[in-house]
Amino acid sequence: MAEHRATEATSANIKAVESKFPSDKQRGLVSVNDLKKYFPVRGGLLNRTVAHVQAVDGVSFDVKSGETLGIVGESGCGKSTTARLLMRLISPDSGDIIIDGKGVGPGGISLRDMRRQMQMVFQDSFASLNPRLTIEDTIAFGPMVHGISQDEARTRARDLLAKVGLDPNLFIRRYPHELSGGQRQRINIARALALEPRIVILDEAVSALDKSVEAQVLNLLMDLKQDFGLTYIFISHDLHVVHYMSDRVLVMYLGKVVEIGPVEQIYESPRHPYTQALLSAMPSMDPDNRAEKPPLSGDPPNPINPPSGCRFHTRCPFAEDVCRSQVPTLEVIDAKSGQLVACHMVQHGSGHSAVSVQEPSMSAPQ
Ligand code: SF4
Repeated sequence: MAEHRATEATSANIKAVESKFPSDKQRGLVSVNDLKKYFPVRGGLLNRTVAHVQAVDGVSFDVKSGETLGIVGESGCGKSTTARLLMRLISPDSGDIIIDGKGVGPGGISLRDMRRQMQMVFQDSFASLNPRLTIEDTIAFGPMVHGISQDEARTRARDLLAKVGLDPNLFIRRYPHELSGGQRQRINIARALALEPRIVILDEAVSALDKSVEAQVLNLLMDLKQDFGLTYIFISHDLHVVHYMSDRVLVMYLGKVVEIGPVEQIYESPRHPYTQALLSAMPSMDPDNRAEKPPLSGDPPNPINPPSGCRFHTRCPFAEDVCRSQVPTLEVIDAKSGQLVACHMVQHGSGHSAVSVQEPSMSAPQ
């Protein structure tokens, strides 16, 4: 009885959460609302929790059907943790993940269905594959677990091998150690597509590849997106690659979203000082246009004890008292493009002295 009541309560919670989101066409295929994950740090004689790493702290965003959302930020900013939370490889402390209008759990979709709709490709192509399974078994395994017959699953594996540019006759009997890094990542992509997902999370999926192979895999991903009508969440530290792949870009700093908007808008007119610094650090092919001094000073602060107010204030050249005392919220600053920024400097009424500056640059406000 108690269990029944708990299920009803959870179901009511999911319905309440779903009702907070806009409906139908307005709603993203994936909606993330106020997601939090703090990892405990244990220590002392009794190995008790002595602190928490605030890896993801109040992250919210939507991913529209058919788009590629790029996620960028320095190492440790929380982008990969966000991906793992989306896949439920780790459980969130709080917050909601809604997929096509449904939460995951009683009253929504099951974890199994969610994993069928959303798949992930990791950076380490070798560690992602079982060394004891042939390539055919690797790709066919997921569909078979989900109830597809062995024959159909093996046919699907062969078709997908051809789709990712590998000759099935040459590759189905091979093992992961017999392949190059680029070939292994193609296998990982084929395996991710084997369940016919709608969303694929690519977590630094091309970062470990040689540049020439990286370009081939990126083009393959573009083609597959078109062919299968996929939606991508593309995580990378390489801003050139994110620019090439993404429709919109989300910038994270120390567990929080600081800016999100259409890729051209963000790259041509970034409004958050951290985004500006990140983009000015991009290596340029133009020798006359190379940065002479590092755009960001100092290391990112410790996520166990992040700075008060705006977490970027310890490195921001425009920081003022309001930045140290109040957490800036993510607000729309351009309704037409849908650009959102979490910075007091661009939000009217925040109390920041530069709030009237329309186009902030990396030079200090007068
Ligand atoms: Fe800099 Fe203040 Fe904006 Fe944070 S809120 S980025 S410290 S100006």
